[in-house]
Amino acid sequence: MGKALTPYGVALEQLKLAAEKLNLEPGIHEMLKFPKRSLTVSVTIRMDNGDIGVFSGCRVQHMDSRGPFKGGIRYHPNVDLDEVTALSMWMTWKCAVVDIPYGGAKGGICCNPKEMSKGELERMTRRFTSMIFDIIGPYRDVPAPDVYTDAQTMAWIMDTYSQMKGYSVPECVTGKPISIGGSEGRSEATSLGVDICAREAAKQINMKFKGATVAVQGYGNVGWNAAKIAYDWGAKIVAVSDSAGGICCKEGLNPYKVYEHKQKTGSVVNFRGSENITNEEVLQTKCDILVPAALENSIRKDAAADIKAKIVAEGANGPTTPDADKALFEKKVILIPDILANAGGVTASYYEWVQNLEREHWPLEEVNSKLETKMCKAFNDVYALSKKEKCEMRTAALMLGVGRVAEAIKVLGLWP
Ligand code: NAD
Repeated sequence: MGKALTPYGVALEQLKLAAEKLNLEPGIHEMLKFPKRSLTVSVTIRMDNGDIGVFSGCRVQHMDSRGPFKGGIRYHPNVDLDEVTALSMWMTWKCAVVDIPYGGAKGGICCNPKEMSKGELERMTRRFTSMIFDIIGPYRDVPAPDVYTDAQTMAWIMDTYSQMKGYSVPECVTGKPISIGGSEGRSEATSLGVDICAREAAKQINMKFKGATVAVQGYGNVGWNAAKIAYDWGAKIVAVSDSAGGICCKEGLNPYKVYEHKQKTGSVVNFRGSENITNEEVLQTKCDILVPAALENSIRKDAAADIKAKIVAEGANGPTTPDADKALFEKKVILIPDILANAGGVTASYYEWVQNLEREHWPLEEVNSKLETKMCKAFNDVYALSKKEKCEMRTAALMLGVGRVAEAIKVLGLWP
């Protein structure tokens, strides 16, 4: 893989583009290229068979000029410092695009959670939390779920942090189960934001969301919920996939039934009434809206040439490479970039944190209506800027995000 294609390489290219457009002071551009702090840890646990397991983990804190660091924790065999650094930088821009008072961070452990027992995952999560304890906390850095981590993982983090503090600290983590301070709507918020953005983009090209055809790559938390919400709003889900492969059905899939099938069999493939296809074919499916919701760099230049969707709403972080971006822009595809499209998750996380700090619990309608307002405003700000600057929405979103962070850095000044 060429240097530019690593996630951090992509993130640096994007930052460079925004810096040029914004005519950013070179010193601030230099500051923004690197995380403020990166902590790598070796997480050692007792495996179920009695052996010692050693897993490499990290927490990367990119920038906190606008508020405490915020970002998910990922468990995946490909996790490395390069990927986590890129993800932490994207978090900084994302929080600024939706204008919430957070900076960007990300964490991860290189492991294969599919091959680990629940007990092993719990021990690894608790040991990891204890090792990053000094740099996280409600006013420092607030973790959340990401790929292959979930509400249960967050509960273990909260409990470990609280036990080490000596009192309960629900506001140290978001994406928790509702029973311990989680927010209504958090588990679906990323996908609701993706669908709100896709709906707003459809309005711009006079396309009705109801009846629109949708393909989704990745059927985890983000992908499955995005398919479900789009289906509930009247769209037709024509193809979905997961790491084992994809399925398609021109007449439309019922995402609830596909989810049940995945729960039973471990994958969406071989779903009754559908045709098995490859992951690449899911991207090429004839549809109006494509939602990549798996991992980074899944839409490359060659794949972009075959994309037929009019709107691409990035549920995943970094799914499109810079040259694929250009190819899609030239094809006049509306690409709603990750730092806007999937910002619903961190926005609802912010609402969860506020509720925790105030010891409140808001009803679902309140969370969703606040989210709707935030996402529509962010979409319209970015869309208007892209028209004004005659550039891709990604460049416009980066200009907005990077510009707000740079402004905060300037106002704060340098200490000492
Ligand atoms: P998840 O672990 O719940 O799901 C990931 C899905 O991707 C699984 O269905 C998996 O089978 C599938 N997948 C993995 N490799 C694949 C491949 N090569 N081809 C097709 N599918 C593949 O994770 P998630 O929370 O849904 O996160 C998905 C993406 O969304 C990630 O990029 C994550 O950073 C991003 N994201 C998540 C949130 C959130 O709130 N969970 C918020 C913002 C962004």
